Amino acid sequence: MLGPVTTGRPARARTHRRPRSRILLVLLALVAVAAVLGVALVVVPMLRPAGPRPLFQMPVACDETWQLSTYPGHDDYDVDFFPIEGEAWGRPVLASYAGTVTVAGINGSLGGRTPENPEGPRGRGGGYWVKIDHGGKWETQYLHLLEPPLVAVGQKVAQGEQIGKLGSTGNSGAPHLHYEQRRGWEKVETYFDGEPSGITTDDREQILRRVSNNCPAVS
Ligand SMILES: [Zn+2]
Repeated sequence: MLGPVTTGRPARARTHRRPRSRILLVLLALVAVAAVLGVALVVVPMLRPAGPRPLFQMPVACDETWQLSTYPGHDDYDVDFFPIEGEAWGRPVLASYAGTVTVAGINGSLGGRTPENPEGPRGRGGGYWVKIDHGGKWETQYLHLLEPPLVAVGQKVAQGEQIGKLGSTGNSGAPHLHYEQRRGWEKVETYFDGEPSGITTDDREQILRRVSNNCPAVS
């Protein structure tokens, strides 16, 4: 009669088995519901095609000429904006197109590069930055701003509205605006005023000039 004793298991354990499996079933059902919801809310929108490309404008003042550039190791399609005239620090950064602000904050760390101390410690990532959702799965990003963005998350912005000031926060060598256009989750070649920028790769350095047509609408 030693048999039952050697199991080391109280006889009561048997009565617990059923409720435990019921809990498991409920958990499995919850996981299944979550999976279905996940597919419905995440995957389905992912598969929806993007809308037509908005008529993006350069993120800088009307009629000004700026240098657009990239360098090896930047990332394909990324564009750095430098003014060719005047002070770079504090220059207005404008929305490329109307939309809703989805990010207005700090990416990485700010570092300590300011107009008073341009060679201060480098930060990490994008520093002060803004992301705008233009609808149709299109978005633009603006990095290394000098000060906290002039817009807030959820705010609607018009094309040409100032969203920040040009700076050198985050991982930035000199005051400039790092700029991206995205369709869905992928970066794409930047277009301005309907014309492609030509900056599609970071295999080599590229420097070009363009005039901003981010001008107030004429009524
Ligand atoms: Zn950049």
